[in-house]
Amino acid sequence: MFDLSKIVRPNILALKPYSSARDEFKGTATAYLDANENPYGMFNRYPDPQQKQLKEALSKLKNVPQENIFVGNGSDEAIDLCYRIFCEPGKDSALTFTPTYGMYSVSADINNVTLVELPLDKNFQIDVDKTLPLFKRENLKLVFICSPNNPTGNSIDAIETILKNFDGIVVVDEAYIDFSASASLLEKLELYPNLVVLQTFSKAWGLAAARVGLAYASAEIISYFNKVKPPYNVSRLNYTVALAAISQPELFENQKNKLLAEREKMVHSLQKLNVVKKVYPSDANFLLVEVTDADGIYNSLVQKGIILRNRNNVVPDCLRITIGSAEENDLLLTALNELP
Ligand code: PMP
Repeated sequence: MFDLSKIVRPNILALKPYSSARDEFKGTATAYLDANENPYGMFNRYPDPQQKQLKEALSKLKNVPQENIFVGNGSDEAIDLCYRIFCEPGKDSALTFTPTYGMYSVSADINNVTLVELPLDKNFQIDVDKTLPLFKRENLKLVFICSPNNPTGNSIDAIETILKNFDGIVVVDEAYIDFSASASLLEKLELYPNLVVLQTFSKAWGLAAARVGLAYASAEIISYFNKVKPPYNVSRLNYTVALAAISQPELFENQKNKLLAEREKMVHSLQKLNVVKKVYPSDANFLLVEVTDADGIYNSLVQKGIILRNRNNVVPDCLRITIGSAEENDLLLTALNELP
């Protein structure tokens, strides 16, 4: 039986959060003399600690109540907060499935939390039979599942089985969901009190520089994110840019469709090359590609000013290729064709 009060760290349950000037007075006033701000300038006032306008817009866009939304300084902030809220350093543990996004492991190390890394199977799927017994592990609080997964590109099938069988928190990182034909787990938020869905403005929205990430979860879980986050964790510049992006849905759709078309083109073109052994199917804006000599090809491309992500250490002989503009993708194809 899922009981959030048993999963949140005792010091976080008891935490009295910082109350900022803008938490204490939320109305409109003639003179704001409560936050030690400078009265002059364009960005002299602190931003909204709860990013209300952005949450309103997201709530409409995603059909999720505002109280179920946390806005972070990139989704990397939300990953770190999960450890800080749920895992007692030196005692509790988390679980993930490799190869996957590296920050689950780095954040675990920073927070002195043991991360159990279970390999995905040969199709990069979760081996459910091997996973379920691990849920009996004492002090296992968190499971991270990246879907579509970075760097493999595929969506993970067994997420709902994991949600149903684990009494801790299941974090589903959907950074790449907009490029996928599969539905987001956001639709199931009400069904699973242990679900946290991460999304970001860094990928399909084209706003990696703005640093705006999102966590969606039950209102109770979100209240702990709000308790633990720094008072003004997202700057007004950041959330204003995100709001502007949401107000231009055609731009988002156009860019996304262009990238999806380029992804198709790249799959077909790469498959024809001599140096390419396998192009893995992708629901994301990148392709995992097995080649004849990952290190050699990576280095030759660097010489030509084309930078891929060398994943040879993670998946043998594999390169991860981000889908770029048509021009960038063509440059890459030409360079690969010219390889000896
Ligand atoms: N999750 C995954 C799977 C990612 O690949 C990345 C960035 N590469 C992130 C989260 C972090 O995204 P953000 O820019 O929102 O911090």
